[in-house]
Amino acid sequence: MEYDINFQILNYDLFYKVLENICENKDNKFNVITCNPIGYSPCGFPIHHFSIGTGPYEVVYMAGTHGNEIIGVDFVLQLMKNLALGKGKFAFFRPELFTVHFIPLQNPEGFFTTTYAIHNVIKDNDRKKICKDYYLNYRKANNAIHVINDILLHFFKQENLSNNFEMLKRHFWKKFYGRTIILEHLKQFFSEIPIKYDECQLEKFWNSKLQAQMLTFPFDYQKPFINLDCNCIPEITSKHQMLKRNIEKMFHNYPYPNYMLGNFCANSLGINLNENNEYYFNELKRLVQEEGNIPVAPIYGNFPKNILGPFGAPSFSKDNFFYTTENIAILNFLKNCQEKLYAFINCHSTGGQLYFYPYDNSINYKESDFTFYINNRIATDYLKTIQLSYQESGSFETYEGMGYPSKISGFGDILRVKYPASFLLELSRAGGNPLGPYIFPNYYLTMKVNMDACMSLLNTILKVQHLYNKTYEINYDRFGRIKYNEKVRTFKL
Ligand SMILES: [Zn+2]
Repeated sequence: MEYDINFQILNYDLFYKVLENICENKDNKFNVITCNPIGYSPCGFPIHHFSIGTGPYEVVYMAGTHGNEIIGVDFVLQLMKNLALGKGKFAFFRPELFTVHFIPLQNPEGFFTTTYAIHNVIKDNDRKKICKDYYLNYRKANNAIHVINDILLHFFKQENLSNNFEMLKRHFWKKFYGRTIILEHLKQFFSEIPIKYDECQLEKFWNSKLQAQMLTFPFDYQKPFINLDCNCIPEITSKHQMLKRNIEKMFHNYPYPNYMLGNFCANSLGINLNENNEYYFNELKRLVQEEGNIPVAPIYGNFPKNILGPFGAPSFSKDNFFYTTENIAILNFLKNCQEKLYAFINCHSTGGQLYFYPYDNSINYKESDFTFYINNRIATDYLKTIQLSYQESGSFETYEGMGYPSKISGFGDILRVKYPASFLLELSRAGGNPLGPYIFPNYYLTMKVNMDACMSLLNTILKVQHLYNKTYEINYDRFGRIKYNEKVRTFKL
């Protein structure tokens, strides 16, 4: 039986309507339990929690950390619907073995802001066409930015400069963002640095790689959103009123372009929930001390990510680090189920990647656990299923497995370090939040391959479950013979 996948671009009303339909569907094969919210956003929007199954192996699917990554929220809802109905591979779901938790929307304020803005723009127009145009225009802008960055890198490399390229790149975009960029600007920039360049070669690069002869702002993909204002948020509850007030204040304190309402990543206080961690907070603070304001990636705009805004700063205070209420909620929730937690999948939006954490603690400790094995095994199986599932649909796409054991930059990494099977999933192969992932056939396939992979994840858990709560200790006796002692894992979180 096929999955039931609807093309849907949600907003506040639709989000609640879809939830109600899922929870109360008479055709549900497995009961959906509505649990207490795990916490509340700063304006008081609940962070909802649902579960299916009553088994001892608990798995958590969460989405909506970044408000503009709307495909994630959509996916977790469609996953919940299909699991409840026992559709597709979920016909074989075993509710007596598993409890699957769903936290479809971690950052309601960012999601409702983005989706109110989108609905204000799309109205009754052809949604599929709007998504396709958005995707193509986003790609066009992104390619142009890459061409310019490649040119910068090419001449930077030739110079063998000791200072860092990221800084030079930031310097370029800070200087030229917002005005029409033409070839002369690059020449001007190179002579100011100074970087020697072959004029002929530079012109050849520019003409061959950049389709348009100039780069103009705002980008075409942003244009449908330039006439928005905060009135797109209706004041239907006191929470909505507060949301609108907070965002008005944010746009009053700094001249953010209005189109950012349609690509709103942070919560209403202007904090980016993934960057809301102490490591990144300190890193950004250091960069700001060295270079001044640090802009977001040029594809989004030129506003600083160290100031509370639509893209989001790492902390409410620029001097001290605080977790947001949304992150405290998930930290507490996972801590409460830590000994029953067999996988946590944090769904983000674009890239088609699974971030895993191949950390081998046996290098540091005499007593080792199986984190490394569990983590890799689950990631490997997940990625294999994704690939097979794509192939079944006649597509040869794959997801990439990403792991940076030493690098902690996001809140997702904080969780990856704590739990053996915590993953950050970049769902869609098509870029361009929020609407890019809604192009066909990418949209349908994103849903389908990840539902298949969810069922395979549950099967992998059954194969490795005996390892979660065990450790082993290696000792040598006085004759040099090895002794393995099996121990029970104690969680030190
Ligand atoms: Zn994200």
